[in-house]
Amino acid sequence: MTLSSLSSHELDFIDDDEFHEECGVVGIWTTQDAASLTALGLHALQHRGQEASGIVTYDGNQFHTHRGLGLVGEVFDDPRVIASLPGGMGIGHNRYATTGETQLRNVQPLYGDFEFGGFAVAHNGNLTNAQLLKQSLVRRGCLFQSSTDSEVFIHLIAISLYSNVIDRFIDAIKQVQGAYSLVALSKDMLIAARDPLGVRPLILGKLPYSQDENSWVVASETCALSSMGADFVRDIEPGEVIIIDHDGVRSIHPFADNTSSRFCIFEYVYFARPDSVIENKSVYMARKKIGAELAKESHVEADVVVPVPDSGVPAAIGYAEASNIPFELGIIRSHYIGRTFIEPTDQIRNLGVKLKHATNRAVINGKRVILIDDSIVRGTTSKKIVEMVRAAGATEVHLRIASPPTQHSCFYGIDTPAEEKLLAHTHSIDEMCKLIGADSLGFVSADGLYRALQEDKRNNQNPQYCDACFTGDYPIPLTDHDMQLVKSK
Ligand code: SF4
Repeated sequence: MTLSSLSSHELDFIDDDEFHEECGVVGIWTTQDAASLTALGLHALQHRGQEASGIVTYDGNQFHTHRGLGLVGEVFDDPRVIASLPGGMGIGHNRYATTGETQLRNVQPLYGDFEFGGFAVAHNGNLTNAQLLKQSLVRRGCLFQSSTDSEVFIHLIAISLYSNVIDRFIDAIKQVQGAYSLVALSKDMLIAARDPLGVRPLILGKLPYSQDENSWVVASETCALSSMGADFVRDIEPGEVIIIDHDGVRSIHPFADNTSSRFCIFEYVYFARPDSVIENKSVYMARKKIGAELAKESHVEADVVVPVPDSGVPAAIGYAEASNIPFELGIIRSHYIGRTFIEPTDQIRNLGVKLKHATNRAVINGKRVILIDDSIVRGTTSKKIVEMVRAAGATEVHLRIASPPTQHSCFYGIDTPAEEKLLAHTHSIDEMCKLIGADSLGFVSADGLYRALQEDKRNNQNPQYCDACFTGDYPIPLTDHDMQLVKSK
């Protein structure tokens, strides 16, 4: 396969050559105004999902729900919407659809009326045995309302033989495989849980200004706390279930014998917001260190280090510092290009990357340029950006990537193409370089990535992260995939 043989759709859909985080979640207990705070938190987590958003609140008497397609600012722009969500407890969700098409019925939080009362759940991650569970649940008479994997939680809780909410919830999470960071709301409690390997992030915070001493926040990332004026308390641990009710915060470890962190290493590379702190590590500083490792591993003589914005910026700063080559903003990204604008014709779609990125000729012309990007997916964007930088007068273009080659698909909540569509799966680094049209191409090694995160060198006995998209070492069974119950993209 060559880049020139890729179809028009593959080449040109502006967002088709990036990874997408699947979701962000927020939970609030208790304030005067849970809906507004939840919306603020979701807004800060917008990078984790831009296709739909929803909030469920409980006012002590009944549940209220609003869900819609679009950005948080669009779904909750009308003050009457927030006013229609009264109550001091709430959960919210941003969605990027990886399982289930983007339809309103798939927008979370999902809600059900159970014999113990209302229950809402919001899920970040992806289950790897959801289809198998769904087949069995449907045989038992469960009627699925959506096509998302997350709905299995609702049905597993509904049919559980345990009597109380917490036992039912734990019964459900013990049956699923995959990655999940969950927030759930009943009339009596807010529940937060991470899967036994803690693949996706989830943190606990506190609202210091609330009149209620017992006011807490749960969110995907610390950047959501900043937007709410909340204080960081701690990361929720892999396999931990946190219960927040009128008596305070309790912690349960239902998987006590079976937890060891395999947090997604790509959250540090690309997905998390750079101002977030995960596992006591600043995401921004981690990216700078990855850039410094990249400079050590794949040094090249050049005049200027240029990031592919926005995600390549911290790694490029780290690369420039480590290599003593000046950092310049040689590519400017427009934040105001929407999908709608570029969709009408093939010709306009062809302009996709150029509409999103423009070169700053003043710092590129006549220079040997090191371009820094976070990853290569299909390679179509890299090819166009290299072309643009050459057209702006660069004498050499050396592409450096702040992650190892992405050779494998993610099944744990990141939207990636099928393996055969990943450029690094089908091509050597030399072949990729030639196809992209760079003078040289270098990736940080897996060991370099681990060094940047100040972890022991990765080894099979003691891998600290999920790095399956680089190594193919999947830490959680891919049951649906292996049974061919899911279609490749
Ligand atoms: S496969 Fe890659 S993107 Fe997916 S969880 Fe693992 S490291 Fe993260």
